[in-house]
Amino acid sequence: MKQLPAATVRLLSSSQIITSVVSVVKELVENSLDAGATSIDVKLENYGFDKIEVRDNGEGIKAVDAPVMAVKYYTSKITSHEDLGNLRAYGFRGEALGSICCVAEVLITTRTAADNFSTQYVLDGSGHIVSQKPSHLGQGTTVTALRLFKNLPVRKQFYSTAKKCKDELKKVQDLLMSYGILKPDLRIVFVHNKAVIWQKTRVSDHKTALMSVLGNAVMGNLEPFQYHSEESQIYLSGFLPKLDADHSFTSLSTPERSFIFINHRPVHHKDILKLIRHYYNVKCLKESTRLYPIFFLKIDVPTTDVDVNLTPDKSQVLLQNKEHRAQFLIENPKTNFEDATVQIEELWKTLSEEEKLKYEEKATKDLERYNSQMKKAIEQESQIPLKDGRKKIKSASAWSLAQKQKLKTSLSSQPKLDELFQSCAEKKRIENIKIIQVPFSMKNLKINFEKQKKFDLEEKDELCLIHNLRFPDAWLITCKREVMLLNPYRVEEALLFKRLLENHILPAEPLEKPITLTESLFNGSHYLEILYKMTTDDQRYGGPTYLSDPRLTANGFKIKLIPGVSNTENYWEIEGMANCLPFYGLMDLKEILNAILNKNAKEIYECRPRKVISYLEGEAVRLSRQLPMYLSKEDIQDIICKMKHQFGNEIKGCVHGRPFFHHLTHLPDTS
Ligand code: ADP
Ligand code: MG
Repeated sequence: MKQLPAATVRLLSSSQIITSVVSVVKELVENSLDAGATSIDVKLENYGFDKIEVRDNGEGIKAVDAPVMAVKYYTSKITSHEDLGNLRAYGFRGEALGSICCVAEVLITTRTAADNFSTQYVLDGSGHIVSQKPSHLGQGTTVTALRLFKNLPVRKQFYSTAKKCKDELKKVQDLLMSYGILKPDLRIVFVHNKAVIWQKTRVSDHKTALMSVLGNAVMGNLEPFQYHSEESQIYLSGFLPKLDADHSFTSLSTPERSFIFINHRPVHHKDILKLIRHYYNVKCLKESTRLYPIFFLKIDVPTTDVDVNLTPDKSQVLLQNKEHRAQFLIENPKTNFEDATVQIEELWKTLSEEEKLKYEEKATKDLERYNSQMKKAIEQESQIPLKDGRKKIKSASAWSLAQKQKLKTSLSSQPKLDELFQSCAEKKRIENIKIIQVPFSMKNLKINFEKQKKFDLEEKDELCLIHNLRFPDAWLITCKREVMLLNPYRVEEALLFKRLLENHILPAEPLEKPITLTESLFNGSHYLEILYKMTTDDQRYGGPTYLSDPRLTANGFKIKLIPGVSNTENYWEIEGMANCLPFYGLMDLKEILNAILNKNAKEIYECRPRKVISYLEGEAVRLSRQLPMYLSKEDIQDIICKMKHQFGNEIKGCVHGRPFFHHLTHLPDTS
């Protein structure tokens, strides 16, 4: 096993893989598959929050590799990013085990064919071995993650309702099913609280595997297909509903049985899904519905055309080759850049000013180089003489030539980032011209409106929910005489953010060496005077005393009072500090004290340091992304109610400032 070069790390780096139970299971199962396992047992306790265990019969981990197996950026699968071009394994960042160690207590028991017995390793938060002992398991690896998110109350709180927990369990099952279909010869057992939830035996082909997952009735209504394009080297195969299928067997209101794989990875590819659903609606149902077909689609393209490195959980694979994309994607070919945009924005926020400056400089240089290559390429192209002796500029191919040159000359990680930034910009441009056809009946609207008016309009500003459109993120509502679209996800995100800002407590981790707070450190005594006025926790006899002010503790500062001979000689030490934020420290403490001193900040939310604010924004965005895709009318009403209660007329946009409402039209006066 080797540590990846720093440049490759930066290229791949992301701390966002582990956001849920299902993301832990996915990473562990993929490791098992990479290790050649033919049998995988997944066991959860308390929905995975007490325990997640994945056991396989794969090749095991060699004793020499054990010390670094869970240390970030150690991987046995690639040695540098040039290897990404012909990637076979699921994993390659060397990051999953390390990330799981950050959010849970991890044990790994493993045995290779050459070992006489298995060894159980206990790991610490940074993935290093704390202890090891012989154990009795057979060949393969068992990874156990205990007390998930115990140090991340934000993520833990998110799963506080029974429904969210059950949804999570279902997601795990759906994920295991998709691997079960993809790998017929894989045996899978899924257990929750000692009860078997789902299992699959080894079978010989995809068809039998599908049969065991979907049942015979559904399979009877699907038919196999195959397609191969010589030119673009694309292979498509799988099972789609027959044209004359009994649609009650092949339709679902959610895409949970729409299985798409690109180069053996299960993916959530909105555009491909949309295309197949459209085809299903038109060809099979012969009407436009909101139903999703049950199907299995395997896409294999040359690995260099797929950018698996876009999002850390790799389920949003990007097809790089535009021609390939065009074959699949008729409408909105770029919707899946949205994720990239958010990811990049978050990554950007975590950079220090210095780093930002560095990247900006690099980006400027890159642009210059790009422009000069573009110019060169156009010049070269224009040298191609036409029959009549004139010269012609072919801008499209000049562009692709410039692109090729750009790729050739780029050896650093920067171009990858640029590419992603560029796709952000591209996405923004597209947003401006996005046109969506919406079925809309003014007549129905008026009828409903009249009905509702009596009750709702009596109160001024009352929002009245009419109907959802065919997208989960667009609900039609009226307010007085205005008809608008409401995006409930943006509201949820803003609500979540507000809640975190007000209540979230960053856990403080003990510092190796406490920092003594002195006047010289603070350039004067004004900040110390604030600390002086703050309350302390109950002083136990002889024990240390800590500042208990929530404005400090919620922001992850554990500050100890060291009593002097007299009260005026007291001083303070930072003994513990939040470690979930990079470069968090004294400057941030100053920000808090400054807010208290100069803005009279009394509540926690008034004195959050900027770093904490952007961290909480990031968490809110990430968590709201895990909301179910399908919200019921009651859910929406509940969201509207919370929105009014929490925001009044104050806030009208999500964390990124995108509006909750989109104005459509004004209703004419009906009286
Ligand atoms: P990656 O999969 O990106 O290499 P991980 O953090 O998921 O990174 O795993 C680190 C390394 O630990 C892997 O490269 C592999 O060598 C080893 N490993 C992890 N899980 C298993 C497993 N179930 N069986 C064998 N080796 C494993
Ligand atoms: Mg892995």
